[in-house]
Amino acid sequence: MKVLFFGPNGSGKGTQGAIVKNRLNIPHIETGVIFRENIQKGTSLGKEAKGYIDRGELVPDSITIPMILDRIKKDDCKNGWLLDGFPRNLTQAQELDRSLKKEGITLDIVIEMVLPRQTAKERIMGRRLCENDNNHPNNIFIDAIKPDGDKCRICGGGLKARSDDQDEAAIDKRHDIYYDTKTGTMAAVNYYKNLSATNNGVPKVIELDGRPGVKEVSEHLIAKLI
Ligand code: AMP
Repeated sequence: MKVLFFGPNGSGKGTQGAIVKNRLNIPHIETGVIFRENIQKGTSLGKEAKGYIDRGELVPDSITIPMILDRIKKDDCKNGWLLDGFPRNLTQAQELDRSLKKEGITLDIVIEMVLPRQTAKERIMGRRLCENDNNHPNNIFIDAIKPDGDKCRICGGGLKARSDDQDEAAIDKRHDIYYDTKTGTMAAVNYYKNLSATNNGVPKVIELDGRPGVKEVSEHLIAKLI
């Protein structure tokens, strides 16, 4: 199963993505996580990406597109993948589509988490990262995933906030890119919606209201996935 997961930063996409990953038993490939791991390890990719990420800008397509197209060719992706954070603009969507067509691969599902911009912004500012595992969801403003004091609610590990999550200008910039219907992420979402409409519903597009709590959203998601 090949799945794309869209949603504004702060929509709970990472949390729900982890659920889809377990349910479908496919790797959850998060562009932002790949960049942050590279920054942590001090790789040349990390050094190149850091400035863009700190400002809330997109890392250039010339770096991001080959990185992801190579990643989904790895052995663990043979039975499918869940892409989260890619594509993030129209060019990336078109390039992914072109590459999949060339390889004879069909995209099965596109999930779009829908959330008002202001709600997404508040959620971002409450988000905390687990030092042991970035996929452990913690948010000081969301009851269902509130940390245990100042520790990760899943493993008790230390928590930290992402610097780009505490910078309002960087958050606004990321949301400007997401909600941009001309060339930004919403243009990519609409690209797949048009594709689906003109191709007998393939890929299947699942729209998901991101406003309810984590459990309710995941129940809706799983019901629509199967
Ligand atoms: P995220 O963890 O998804 O919020 O991503 C963090 C940052 O990584 C973004 O603000 C961008 O700077 C960068 N990034 C993530 N995905 C992409 C992408 N598909 N294209 C370019 N930059 C990206």
